[in-house]
Amino acid sequence: MAEERRDQRDQRGARDARDAREGVQEVGEPWGRRVRPEEADAWESLVATARRTVSEGLVVGTSGNVSVRVGDTVLVTPSGVPYDRLTPQDVTGVDLDGRQVLGALVPTSELPMHLAVYRATDAGAVVHTHAVHATAVSTLVPELPLIHYMAGALGGPVRVAPYATYGTRELAENMLQALTDRTACLLQNHGTITYGTTLDQAYDRTAQLEWMSRLWLTATSVPGLSPTLLSEGQVAEAGERLRGYGQRG
Ligand code: 13P
Ligand code: ZN
Repeated sequence: MAEERRDQRDQRGARDARDAREGVQEVGEPWGRRVRPEEADAWESLVATARRTVSEGLVVGTSGNVSVRVGDTVLVTPSGVPYDRLTPQDVTGVDLDGRQVLGALVPTSELPMHLAVYRATDAGAVVHTHAVHATAVSTLVPELPLIHYMAGALGGPVRVAPYATYGTRELAENMLQALTDRTACLLQNHGTITYGTTLDQAYDRTAQLEWMSRLWLTATSVPGLSPTLLSEGQVAEAGERLRGYGQRG
């Protein structure tokens, strides 16, 4: 990483010197344009969120990925880079068509899923994890049973998108269908994906989904008993009420 960063700096330095001489505009160059202050701030939050997915046990190693939208640019975690190694110099950004506009590290392999969410919704941030209980549920049922009213915070019963190879357009299509009227879905034999207005909201939805999955697995593992479930109406009512949850303003 240090070596890649040094290369990046050297190339940037050479480019900046040439630009200064020639008055060249940077937009559209292979190394992209300069990082704007709001993108630098968003990158810092993105890296913090990605690190949280590891520290709170939602992923292991470099699994999962995180993105945040700043205007028409989507900042994404680079593919296969441990989150604790990411620095402010590693800002990685693409446009909504997936063209790289910031940085030199290869963007996440799940770009098709992230971009599909931004194109289809008003999402400000997307979080994908391999959280263990949620992934276990994705192998057992086509939809997470209504074990708790917090499903209302995700738009209703959380569906499982049929399996497709990671990083493919097919997976993105399956995901988008499962996300209809929801802010979260499970990816069969793979993991979770959630979105929100902010990184914190998207992250919190992942944590709630993992917690609900764990709750269902716990309740269904008692021999001879099966849990009571809520109706879609009860969950919808809770969902409505949750809109006013917490402090005013
Ligand atoms: P990336 O490291 O390319 O983001 O891939 C991790 C992952 O979870 C693929 O589904
Ligand atoms: Zn994944």
